[in-house]
Amino acid sequence: MTTKIVRGCTVICGVDDEGNVEEITNGAILIEDGTIKTIADADELIRAMPEIEVTGGDEFIVFPGLINAHHHVGLTPFQLGAPDMPLELWITERMGARAVPWRLDTFYSAFELVRSGVTTVQHLHNRVAGGPDEVCEAAKQVIGTYRDLGMRVSYSYCMRDRNRIVYGDDDEFLATLPADLATELDAAITPFKLNIDGNIEAFERMRQNYAGDDGVAIQLAPINFHWCSDLALERISDVAQRHDASIHMHLLETPYQRAFARRETGGSPLLTLERFGLLNSRMTLGHGVWTSENDLDAIAASDTRVCHNCSSNMRLKSGTAPVNDMLSRGIKVAIGIDEAGINDDRDMFAEMRLVLNSHRPPGHSAPAPSPAQVFKMASEYGALSTGFGARIGRLEPGRAADMVLLKKSQISSPYLDPSVSILDAVIMRGKPEGVDTVLVGGEIILSGGRFTRIDEGAVLAELTETLAGPRTEDEERRRKMAQRTVTHAEQFYDGWLDDEPMEPYEYRNSRI
Ligand SMILES: [Zn+2]
Repeated sequence: MTTKIVRGCTVICGVDDEGNVEEITNGAILIEDGTIKTIADADELIRAMPEIEVTGGDEFIVFPGLINAHHHVGLTPFQLGAPDMPLELWITERMGARAVPWRLDTFYSAFELVRSGVTTVQHLHNRVAGGPDEVCEAAKQVIGTYRDLGMRVSYSYCMRDRNRIVYGDDDEFLATLPADLATELDAAITPFKLNIDGNIEAFERMRQNYAGDDGVAIQLAPINFHWCSDLALERISDVAQRHDASIHMHLLETPYQRAFARRETGGSPLLTLERFGLLNSRMTLGHGVWTSENDLDAIAASDTRVCHNCSSNMRLKSGTAPVNDMLSRGIKVAIGIDEAGINDDRDMFAEMRLVLNSHRPPGHSAPAPSPAQVFKMASEYGALSTGFGARIGRLEPGRAADMVLLKKSQISSPYLDPSVSILDAVIMRGKPEGVDTVLVGGEIILSGGRFTRIDEGAVLAELTETLAGPRTEDEERRRKMAQRTVTHAEQFYDGWLDDEPMEPYEYRNSRI
């Protein structure tokens, strides 16, 4: 049996349902075989077990490993030459991005995540050319990279079976394009046309492949309402029930997506999800920016979860999510950095601050999230949106020993008034340079700011070297194709918002 003690001047265990911080001053955590056994007064615990090795000390604040509940890629689209644009156009533009080997790409953002206190990532793998074999091989490389670094990963391959270019039928859209562009684009999307049977086969094989690794959870990810046929939703609902698998689904990210649902169903996509039995505690809806009050009532009543991707909503002009209306209904909201945060990196501290400060409408009594609520979103509620559920997200006996040791001096130097709550200071002032040590399942994967298993410098040097040359002929051709397609996509969506209510959520009473 491996036993370890982790000590801190403050151990933040979590936040209770009333928003109170649960913390222990001068606390210590006893870990046995990767699981938290006891949390107690540090002096008492160490005196009782003098032979056990102690990590940390009174210069550290200890808190649960954070969860980035919505993540796709390593190098950011911006870095790869796809500047921020409204989502629908950006998706098209991104078809021209450079290809980065999966392993190097995954390491790049995993380093950033761990350095900002993230121990678990919800990786939503977007596109793999080919069939179930290729999907499983891509999963092996991405999951293997996280596991080599020591991170926990909740992995999904994004399922889609329609509307691969714009929010409309592929062939109908291709028919509107100049013939040479249509041929090229058709050839570009064809390798990605995995049908729902192939998607489910890949999911079931991955579930089997990783059944023995408690650091890996395999989830379902029907990627969005407009990308999934009714047949796909029906099958996914059935498979989720059969495997008791959690699901992550982008939904109502932009007003164009709401307009699509209205055109197709006459109402909200939530009604369709409800019809297929997809609104329940297994489901996390990514974004949910354009949810109506009725939608939020249905989400709350069914204990469906939401993942708030604040930076992404800003960068891609998607809108402002009604986070206060979600929290006031008791909806469990997780936080995702999505493709990249506001600083074009993966900094969970920055993302938490952005969430804290983006939902503060004027008025002394108007609601706003508290630092404790934001912390709960990034830890316990994040955990609930992954396949790990209540095994992670809080420091308490029986949960996995995933935790972060932050140098207290980083938030308190040269002065922090003793009246300031430590949790508030972590949210307001925490930065990656303060993260000293990170444990996942009781194993130290970052120590003194250095990764213990992987030579970060060597990986980054290899990444630099790999991308040092010019774009390949194929990459150059794809970029030109993507740029031409953006213009046609813009025309396709022309007029879509003419009948859509576009006021900020707080001021509209949208009842669709
Ligand atoms: Zn996403």
